[in-house]
Amino acid sequence: MSTIGTPSQGVGTSLWINNLVHGLAGTTIRVKHAVYCASSPFQKIEVYDTYRYGMVLSLAGSIVLTEHDSDIYHEMMVHPAMLCHASPRRICIIGGGDGGCLKETLKHSCVSSVVVVDIDAMVKETIERHFPALAAGFKDDRVTVVIDDGYSFLKTTDTPFDVIIVDSYDPGGPVQSLETADFLHLVAERLAGGGLAVIQTDSPLVRPDFLRQTMTHLSPLFAQVKPYLCSLSSFPEGVCSFVLCGREKNALGRFEASRCTALADSCLYYNEEIHRGAFLLPQYLRRKINEGK
Ligand code: SAM
Repeated sequence: MSTIGTPSQGVGTSLWINNLVHGLAGTTIRVKHAVYCASSPFQKIEVYDTYRYGMVLSLAGSIVLTEHDSDIYHEMMVHPAMLCHASPRRICIIGGGDGGCLKETLKHSCVSSVVVVDIDAMVKETIERHFPALAAGFKDDRVTVVIDDGYSFLKTTDTPFDVIIVDSYDPGGPVQSLETADFLHLVAERLAGGGLAVIQTDSPLVRPDFLRQTMTHLSPLFAQVKPYLCSLSSFPEGVCSFVLCGREKNALGRFEASRCTALADSCLYYNEEIHRGAFLLPQYLRRKINEGK
């Protein structure tokens, strides 16, 4: 049991956040104090100030952001796709209301426009109020924020995107329209030539079937569909999976190492070795992905 950063007995509140998996095991985080609690038309929104993770955002009862380690998540959500694309200029982030993917996307000077789509305006408002470092990206001239269901937005937009980032996977989240094969088909359709898409596919330890199911839906749409992982302690079971896909045959073979070196200096986790290693999968996951093939 890690005791790093645990205040000595008797210090601090007796308020804890329990982030449990199936109610059986998980993370428990001691809280300095509750900062904000409200309900939007879509989900409960809570912000806590904690000893170990700093400010923590919880949506619909799940931790989705911590000051301490969410850079890891957002770097790994964004940079693999951006560096496998020769010149990603037009970007779309579905579920980007927490500003984390936007912050990483704007580190790429080649980006000319970013559309951030989130169904819940209150998420962005909460970030602006309590996570100013993440909210800064919303003021960038290249950024347009659209408050809408990601499915409806992709259905109606006629803009082709170079990279589409789907960061709105939320088990039991506000609207389940983004977990359908139909939505993934829309993602493929809205990519420009050479475009890439990346989908967050939850913890492979908690929901390996969701990763396999998403890859099954994506395979007919993309020539390359590659899962990859990152580790961050605030995520359920400490491992998060993503799927990077491209329509062209060698879409993911390109990797701009020169752009990576400069970028890595501004990152907490991502660098060239992490990029290459993230796609190496443990045996249990390779078995799970190949089940039924
Ligand atoms: N980063 C989170 C995590 O660690 O799993 C998940 C992403 S984020 C917090 C989820 C965001 O997606 C929320 O801001 C939520 O409002 C948004 N969202 C959920 N369903 C959506 C939909 N159908 N269309 C657009 N945004 C959606």
